[in-house]
Amino acid sequence: MTAETPSEVPAGVMVKADNVHKYFGKVEVLKGIDLEVRAGEVMCVVGPSGSGKSTFLRCINHLEKVSGGRLYVNGHLVGYREKNGKLYELRDREVSEQRREIGMVFQRFNLFPHMTALENVMEAPCRVKKLPKAQSRARAEELLTRVGLGDKMGNYPSQLSGGQQQRVAIARALAMDPSLMLFDEPTSALDPELVGEVLEVMKSLAADGMTMVVVTHEMGFAREVGDSLVFMDGGVVVEQGAPREVLANPQHPRTREFLSKVL
Ligand code: ADP
Ligand code: MG
Repeated sequence: MTAETPSEVPAGVMVKADNVHKYFGKVEVLKGIDLEVRAGEVMCVVGPSGSGKSTFLRCINHLEKVSGGRLYVNGHLVGYREKNGKLYELRDREVSEQRREIGMVFQRFNLFPHMTALENVMEAPCRVKKLPKAQSRARAEELLTRVGLGDKMGNYPSQLSGGQQQRVAIARALAMDPSLMLFDEPTSALDPELVGEVLEVMKSLAADGMTMVVVTHEMGFAREVGDSLVFMDGGVVVEQGAPREVLANPQHPRTREFLSKVL
């Protein structure tokens, strides 16, 4: 922890949301989210469509600005600097520095179609971190091997299955050495037989101690890999706890109703 670590964030906390609100125009989509993700924790977030899950992840990753409240990642206030009790927006360069700490994997794989798997994984370290080519190539090879694609490095996205493309996307996010990985329904666009290979990679990342926030409908993954489970509905956290407990014994009627549909 550095001297600039805000006193509001306890040691060992990777993400802290403090009464986070988000409006789109007049529509309030996040209505006061309070959450803490500890370093090394896997938090799974579930909830019906439209409940604000993606918006919350997008706020963490600077893709949306919070309208109220505070969000901290790795001790830094997301998007702002605080001085004498006032908040000042960060400059673009400072925002991109903060964003480098965060890897994100989306439902759609978003790979560059004109680049091979290897080139996709090398791209950000070369362009953003200005790593020498040989170094980022070696690291990309290591990461692609780790996600089980050591033999597909020269393939273009169109020559890979959805599950393989998503594993490349995970390797690409890891190439920036993030402290935090965000997953927004990473298996929802996949054919059912390809879901397992992506979840396996995520499971091994978790086992290596990566801090992860995972929006998913895969309750088996949440139960097995998650340290905590958050149920969101209507822009609020309705319920959270140990996955096994929430899944076996949901306290809130809305959680029960949701789980009865997905389990
Ligand atoms: P979830 O991921 O849980 O399905 P989202 O975070 O995508 O939910 O969306 C929450 C609500 O915010 C929805 O009602 C959605 O229509 C709305 N919303 C999301 N993004 C925007 C946007 N850019 N502009 C306006 N409304 C949005
Ligand atoms: Mg979503």
